[in-house]
Amino acid sequence: MACSATVPLLPKIAGAQDRRAVWHVLGSNGGPRVVTNRSNPANVLMIGDTPYIVDCGYGVTRQLVRAGLPLTSLEQIFITHLHSDHALECGNLIYCSWSTGLDNEVTVHAPEGAKAMMDAYMESIRFDLDVRIGDENKPDLRNMVKVREIGDSGVVFENSDVTVTAFRTPHPPIVKRNYAFRFDVAEGSFVYACDTAYNPALADFAQGADVLIHEALYEPGFADMAVRSRNKSESFREHIFNSHTSTEHVGQIAAAAKVKKLVLSHLVPGDDESITDDMWLEGVRRHYDGEAIVAHDFMEITI
Ligand SMILES: [Zn+2]
Ligand SMILES: [Zn+2]
Repeated sequence: MACSATVPLLPKIAGAQDRRAVWHVLGSNGGPRVVTNRSNPANVLMIGDTPYIVDCGYGVTRQLVRAGLPLTSLEQIFITHLHSDHALECGNLIYCSWSTGLDNEVTVHAPEGAKAMMDAYMESIRFDLDVRIGDENKPDLRNMVKVREIGDSGVVFENSDVTVTAFRTPHPPIVKRNYAFRFDVAEGSFVYACDTAYNPALADFAQGADVLIHEALYEPGFADMAVRSRNKSESFREHIFNSHTSTEHVGQIAAAAKVKKLVLSHLVPGDDESITDDMWLEGVRRHYDGEAIVAHDFMEITI
C-alpha cells in the first residue's frame, strides 16, 4: 500500500489492551529527501499501549497521529544515528506531544551529540516555551526530556516488557556513532539495522531473531536517484554505495543470521516506484529462502 495524501486516518494503534508487540513502519523511505509515496525513516514498536519510537525522520509526528497513536503516551525514543533522516523531527515530536498534553518525562536514547542537539532545539523554541508556560500554565518541557547518549554496544533500556540492546555498526565515511537495535519481547525479537554498511557481524547480533528489519540499497536505481537529488558528484555516489547495504548483501546477512522474517525498509531509492517489490527482493532471494517482504508505510509486523 502506498502512502499518499488520500490515505485515511488509521485508528488502529490506540486502545491495544493486550501486551502483544506490534512493529509499525511509519516511514519506509531512506534518506532526507521528502517524497510523496513514502515518509522518512520512523517506526514505533507498540507493546500494549506503550510506544517505543525508533527513529524520528521528518514526518514522524504526522504519521503517528495518522496511525491513531495518542502523542501523550510518548515515553521512550531510540535513534540509530544523527543523520537528519533519523533525527530531524525528534525535537518536534516531543514538542508536539507536549502541546497535546504530554506531562511525563521522555527519554531519548541516541548517540553522542544528541544532548547538544536537544539543547539547541529547546533554545530554538525558547520564545514559544516561555510564552506558553506563562500563558497556558504548562510544565517546562526543558525539564521533561532526558537524553541518554549511547556509548559501547550493550543493553540501553530494560523493563518488564522489553530489553533493548544497541550494537555499533559502521556507516562510513564520516558517521562514527551509529547503532542497530535489538528489541527482545515476550514473543521473541525484532532487530532493526537502518542505516548500516554491509556488516557480516550484524548476522551474529541478529542471530535467530524472529524479525530483521534491514535497510536496502537497490544499486541499479542510483543513477536516476542522483538526477532527482541534483547531485551527480562522485562523493555522493561513494557515500551511497559505501554507507549502505545492497539487496544481495542483505540476503546474505538474513541467511547467516537465520532470521524467521526479513523486512526491507529504509529503501534507497524508496521514491522510485518503477522498482517493484519483486525487484527489491530479487537480490535477497539469491541468498535467503525465508519469508522476505518490502516495507510500506503503515505496515504492521508481528512475531
Ligand atoms: Zn538513513
Ligand atoms: Zn545515515
